[in-house]
Amino acid sequence: MKCYKCGNKAVIYRKHEGRAWCKKHFSQQLEAKVKKTIRDEKLIEKNDKVCVALSGGKDSSLTLYLLHKFFGERPDIEISALTVDEGISGYRQESIEIAKSLCKKLGVELHIVSFKGEFGKSLDEIVRNKKARACTYCGVLRRYLLNKKSRELGATKLAVGHNLDDEIQSIFLNYLKGDVNRLVRLGAKPAVVSRKEFVTRVKPLRNIPEKETTLYCLLNGIEVHRSVCPNSKDSIRFDIKDFLNNMEEKYSGTKYNIIQFYDTLKPALLKTFKDKGGKVKVCPRCGEPTSRNVCKTCELLDTITSSKA
Ligand code: SF4
Repeated sequence: MKCYKCGNKAVIYRKHEGRAWCKKHFSQQLEAKVKKTIRDEKLIEKNDKVCVALSGGKDSSLTLYLLHKFFGERPDIEISALTVDEGISGYRQESIEIAKSLCKKLGVELHIVSFKGEFGKSLDEIVRNKKARACTYCGVLRRYLLNKKSRELGATKLAVGHNLDDEIQSIFLNYLKGDVNRLVRLGAKPAVVSRKEFVTRVKPLRNIPEKETTLYCLLNGIEVHRSVCPNSKDSIRFDIKDFLNNMEEKYSGTKYNIIQFYDTLKPALLKTFKDKGGKVKVCPRCGEPTSRNVCKTCELLDTITSSKA
């Protein structure tokens, strides 16, 4: 197959577009799309200190790589990286080594925090002998640490590697859970009331399909961790991902339709549920932001300290 623009050998065919693209034009398009998201949504602005949540996987590595490419020379913008070591044996250690190697190559400062160091137990130890799913603990505790540590580092933005597939999975997840509070908070720069305890999360890859983040890394020599977390099949997100991939395979363009539909609906959702998406208090126990009386992290930490495992 030949590139639609230059006739060179194509590396990707987009079924919903009916066009194929070579390495050069595919890479240019992806970069232009990420820049447009950053510009349109004002994800990164003058004097920002951007901390990238870096796992070493393709999406977070690409986020760091592109932000460094776009803003690395800007004297008014600082970029650093933050890795959370949850303590998942046979999985996380390798990805941390890859994160270290990428940061070294780019000359970006990397900070590493661990569940063991912060909470006294690794994720493996937390879920041992427990019925609760690993992802429940992992997601909540990791989000808590990313916000807390990036704030302590003085970051004004926390860049996460969520791609288009992650975003539409989150849309479905919130439908299935009936969680309108979280549904209205989705987007490239989630709509949360700004508070000094919150570091604004931004998603530069929010409009890029997962397949394309993988391909860009491969074509542009970005070393990434390819293993899949051993706990991932245990999560509802895995089932949703499977369903959406099947729908895309059968009806091309489905994923773009879902995200465009959400974006069209979002202003109306925000208008109707503006209080729901934005009510944020401070947890009386840990001082971190939350929409509950006691935050979910403190609630989960209680189950850890009361367990003998
Ligand atoms: Fe954590 Fe679950 Fe993701 Fe594994 S799959 S890294 S346990 S959230």
